[in-house]
Amino acid sequence: MRDYKEYSVPELHLKAVIADITQLDCECIVNAANKTLLGGGGVDGAIHRAAGPQLVEECRTLNGCRTGEAKLTKGYRLKADYVIHTVGPVYGTPDAEKKLKDCYRNSLELARTHEIHSIAFPMISTGVYGYPRSEAAPAAFSAVRLWHQEHREYPMEILFCCFDEESFELLAGYMQQMKTEL
Ligand code: ADP
Repeated sequence: MRDYKEYSVPELHLKAVIADITQLDCECIVNAANKTLLGGGGVDGAIHRAAGPQLVEECRTLNGCRTGEAKLTKGYRLKADYVIHTVGPVYGTPDAEKKLKDCYRNSLELARTHEIHSIAFPMISTGVYGYPRSEAAPAAFSAVRLWHQEHREYPMEILFCCFDEESFELLAGYMQQMKTEL
């Protein structure tokens, strides 16, 4: 295990941390929501509690969200200005990996259309949706990496906000590998 809880590749504007996403000071945090967008457990519940009741009021106006898609709200009492709500796939459902990657890609695209330049992701689908961390982390990393490569002209700081050692170690490992290839 590494003796620090942060790993970054500054040249690529990528970072992994172990942290509570509700406490982050970045422009936008991503919520691993459910299709109703009306709140739930895990990171979703934590974000709604920290943002306050206005968040669910705005979410009510959005008519839910399909798996793999993303919708934006304000951040209300959070330090983050915005929350992007995306719905991860349940592990084992058809096209789960593609849909998990779509969550990252669509969240990044939505952030870009709102001229957001810093975004933090939780490890989508690795809680109640049952995705093994060992499969979710490489999918997350490759989706983010691909998006970055396709948008080199657009400055975007991307943070993987892990809540467990295993995800952090996996992501830090991929980033370390990437550093050696620079
Ligand atoms: P899903 O339904 O997409 O599986 P969960 O909220 O159940 O979503 O879990 C997604 C991930 O978010 C899990 O790895 C969980 O440990 C993590 N998580 C839970 N609370 C927080 C938090 N406050 N900050 C960051 N990550 C969190």
